[in-house]
Formats: sequence, structure tokens, C-alpha cells
Amino acid sequence: MALHSAGETARLLGMEDVPPVLEVNVSGRSPFLLTCDHYGRLIPRRLGDLGLPESELSRHIAWDIGIAGVAEALSGHLDAHLIAQRYSRLVIDCNRPPASAGSIPRLSEATAIPGNEAMAGDAAESRREAIFDPYHRRIREVIEKRLRDGVPTVLVSLHSFTPVYAGIIRPWHIGMLYHRDIRLPPLLLKLLRGEPDLVVGDNEPYAVSDETDYTIPVHGEARGLMNTGIEIRQDLSADKAGQKQWADRLARIFGEIETALRMQRLV
Ligand SMILES: [Zn+2]
Repeated sequence: MALHSAGETARLLGMEDVPPVLEVNVSGRSPFLLTCDHYGRLIPRRLGDLGLPESELSRHIAWDIGIAGVAEALSGHLDAHLIAQRYSRLVIDCNRPPASAGSIPRLSEATAIPGNEAMAGDAAESRREAIFDPYHRRIREVIEKRLRDGVPTVLVSLHSFTPVYAGIIRPWHIGMLYHRDIRLPPLLLKLLRGEPDLVVGDNEPYAVSDETDYTIPVHGEARGLMNTGIEIRQDLSADKAGQKQWADRLARIFGEIETALRMQRLV
């Protein structure tokens, strides 16, 4: 069914679809606020399968494989509030500015997305209103409440990356991504590089920018919050055991960071 009238926008998600925002540990006491833009790979019932087979919809182009398990476990370990988004980045990418070409991709890696070509009328707007806006509105509300209540807030945006992209092998086990925050990144980099078995990406495999990112620039940098992105390689976090290992390790490291930030009176 085509979505072309303004009246259709609010109804992209029907009764059978779950809300886009998933929250864990809403009353968590940690200064770390966790977000997960690419947590899920659901597609609203009305959009069918976007013209793709399951083999494509289960790949990294649809979501961040493994990060859901890491994020939930880390939220538990740290007693940290986690705000996650359940729908596939192929429907709308919640870490891309809505006006950018990557927001609703017609091509991801080498895969054409038939359901994103020749979209009618206000279809892009309807995806934004149904998925992107509620997710970012909720992050904004939570941050504003924390600031009002004087609760220290450090934004940690959790992602995962594919071990091979466009034929290029990526050597890093974990990457930290940052741009304007100069307080948290050096501390995190030092601690990650202190782990003898890790190859750590310093703004690898990506760097944060206003053009290619949304969550960190808008919710972290624009508010002056300390922030970082974390990228975990998917072959190391695809199964439960790997997710547990990463969550345990990151909980230990973020615990050390919290102690250091408290000593510097930054949280
Ligand atoms: Zn991601």
C-alpha cells in the first residue's frame, strides 16, 4: 500500500508493530547514558520485506549484529539507562541526519534496497515521524531531565561493525569514535590500549562527523556532554559468549573511567 496522504503518516506503525523505542534500566544510577541506534532489524508490517530476502535482512546492512546483547548486559552491569531503537537502519537510519542520502538508503554496501527506491509522496517523512523522531525525542527528554535534576551524564553510543567491508579486512577488535569531546576519548583510549589482547581503533573504522552522524553531534556535542562512540567487531560479538565477554570487559573499563572522572570532579 502506498503512503501518500498526510493522514497516513502516523499510521506507518500499525497495531501489530512494536514501538521503536526500547528502554532498559530507566532508573539506572550510572552517569553513563547508553544509546543503541542500530539495535534492531524489525520492519514495519506495511513495508513488507523492503524487497529483500532474509539473507540480506539478517546481514550487517540491516542492523548492528551482536550489539543488542552487549548493550543490555552492559546496562545491567553498570546500572545504566539504555535507550535503543528496534527498527532496521534500512527503514530509516537513526544515526544519519534525516536530510542526508544515507538516511533511507537505496544502496547499502553492494545491495540495492528495492523498497527504498521511488518512494511515494511523504513516505520518507512518515518513516521519520514513526521511528526516527520518537527515538531522538526520548533521548532528548531523558538528557534534559537528567540535566534539570543535576544528574551527571556521559553519552555512550554503542555500535558494531562488520569484519570485512567492501572487500577490505578490518583489523581492529574495537574502535572508539569521537570528534569534539577532548575529555573522555583520551581516557578511554588509554584504558582500551592497556588491554593486551585488543587491537584498538582510534576513530576507526569510522570517525564521527556532523554529516555522517546524528546521535553524538546532536545529543552529545551540541549539549557539551562528554561522549564517545564504541564500535565492536561483529565476528567477536555475534554469539552470547562474545557479547558477555565484551559487556564484562566494557563494564570494568567504564567502571575505571567513572572513578577517574569522579576524581577529576567531571561527574
Ligand atoms: Zn551502528
